[in-house]
Amino acid sequence: MTTSKKILFTIIAVLAVGFLIPERIKIPVVGASKNDWNHKSFWFEPWGTSGVHKGIDIFGKLGSGVASTTDGVVIFTGHIPKGGNVIVVFGPKWRFHYFAHLNTVNTSMFSLVGSGDLIGTVGDSGNAKGKPPHLHYSIVRLIPVPWAIDGSTQGYKKAMFIDPSSYLRA
Ligand SMILES: [Zn+2]
Repeated sequence: MTTSKKILFTIIAVLAVGFLIPERIKIPVVGASKNDWNHKSFWFEPWGTSGVHKGIDIFGKLGSGVASTTDGVVIFTGHIPKGGNVIVVFGPKWRFHYFAHLNTVNTSMFSLVGSGDLIGTVGDSGNAKGKPPHLHYSIVRLIPVPWAIDGSTQGYKKAMFIDPSSYLRA
C-alpha cells in the first residue's frame, strides 16, 4: 500500500471500527511517571480565560521527548495562541488527543503514529510562557456522551472531554 492509501485506510478503520481497536496507552512525556502531574488538575478552576482546566499538565525538562499516548493519525500540527505549538492525534474510540505547549513538533499532518512514538518535545510555548515547561494533554470525544455531564462549571463540556488522568491510569 502507498502511504496515502495507508493513511486513508487508517482513518476509515478508526471511523468504522473505532470502538474495536484497542487503545495502547502510554504516558506522553518520556521519563515521566504518574507523579509528574496533579491527578486533580482536570477541571480545576479558576483556570485563566478557559474557566476550567480541560486537561492535565505533565511537567518535564525543556526538550524532553513527547510520545503519542495512542495509535492514530496526526490530523493537525501548528501554532495557536493559547496552546502554542500543538499536535492533534485521532485515535481509537473516536477520540482526539491534544498535545500543547510543545517546544518542537517532530511529526507532520497525516502521519501515522504508534503509541509511544516520539512526536515532539516538552516546551513552554503559547500561554505556558514564563511557567515551568510542561505538556498540556487533553482527550476529546468525537461523539459526545451526555451522561458524562455534571453540575460543575462548564459541566456540559464533560460530554466531550475525558479526564486524561484516568485514561493514563487505565
Ligand atoms: Zn494545561
